[in-house]
Amino acid sequence: MVKAAKPLFDRVAFIGIGLIGASMALAMRRAKVTNFIVTCDSSAKARKTALDLGIVNDATKDYGKAVKDADLVVIATPVRSYETIAKAIARHLKSGAIVTDVGSVKKEVIAAVKPHLPKNVHFVPGHPIAGTEHSGPEAGFAELFQNRWSILTPPPRTSAKAVVKVAELWRRIGAKVDTMQPDHHDMVLAITSHLPHLIAYTIVGTATDLEGDLKREVIKYSASGFRDFTRIAASDPVMWRDIFLANGPAVLEILQRFTEDLTALQKAIRKTDGKTLEDLFTRTRAVRRSIIDARQA
Ligand code: NAP
Repeated sequence: MVKAAKPLFDRVAFIGIGLIGASMALAMRRAKVTNFIVTCDSSAKARKTALDLGIVNDATKDYGKAVKDADLVVIATPVRSYETIAKAIARHLKSGAIVTDVGSVKKEVIAAVKPHLPKNVHFVPGHPIAGTEHSGPEAGFAELFQNRWSILTPPPRTSAKAVVKVAELWRRIGAKVDTMQPDHHDMVLAITSHLPHLIAYTIVGTATDLEGDLKREVIKYSASGFRDFTRIAASDPVMWRDIFLANGPAVLEILQRFTEDLTALQKAIRKTDGKTLEDLFTRTRAVRRSIIDARQA
């Protein structure tokens, strides 16, 4: 008989128990990664839901109470709240504790958190490439990270043991793990996630600015194209405001290239240059196939 793996952490604290925090907590309970989970969340509703649904063992609005004695602290709130949180938890952290996070931007997160943490605490920044357009603990589910990537971006001189432990946590809850430089992460995510969200917000925004009848018809006849954009554009406004503010330079760089490519397509349509259009659409179809082949569809 295969022996069950030992829990990796005695006590885990989640700062923020929304979609991602709750999904991690549920997955960690199922994989027996820890025996005790506490959350500190500013929302009384989220705290109550997390307790009622059995996602956590305890919930508080007191940062110190939550992180005291925790072996692992996971920050899972919108990224621009990180600095305040780092300052609030710093003096309560136990020596040797690991602090990690799930924020969608890494360079600014590291700059906001690392300087405030004591030397005897290990900071291993992370980002699971998994999510939905829903928010709150009630949207969480244990399978969210199955076969998804989780990217770790440890700053130089981070304890290798702490990195291995965080990587092991992600593997035990079903994810595949990669490590990356924070800048590189932010540029990759600007292309794969941030720009698509910006486009979706723009398209849906344009539709909502249309005058009466036209707007009603857009909603009534919304075919899969527009409908898919509305799903993305329904993502949490605070979380996405923070992502664009925190990853401004990378998003602006990619946006510049995107604008140039869009102008080229505009020109192709104006010049009835079907070849340029068909060539591009053929290339993009192949990209979809490779994502399906990589089982990330
Ligand atoms: P969420 O569902 O909106 O939950 C965030 C929770 O944190 C809310 O209950 C919120 O309470 C609470 N909170 C906000 N500021 C706080 C603070 N200063 N102290 C304590 N609690 C606080 O968010 P999420 O979707 O799980 O996203 C969390 C993080 O994961 C973000 O950094 C995001 O970039 C990252 N991420 C998200 C996804 C995704 O698809 N959603 C995917 C990968 C990574 P209030 O409602 O009262 O503000």
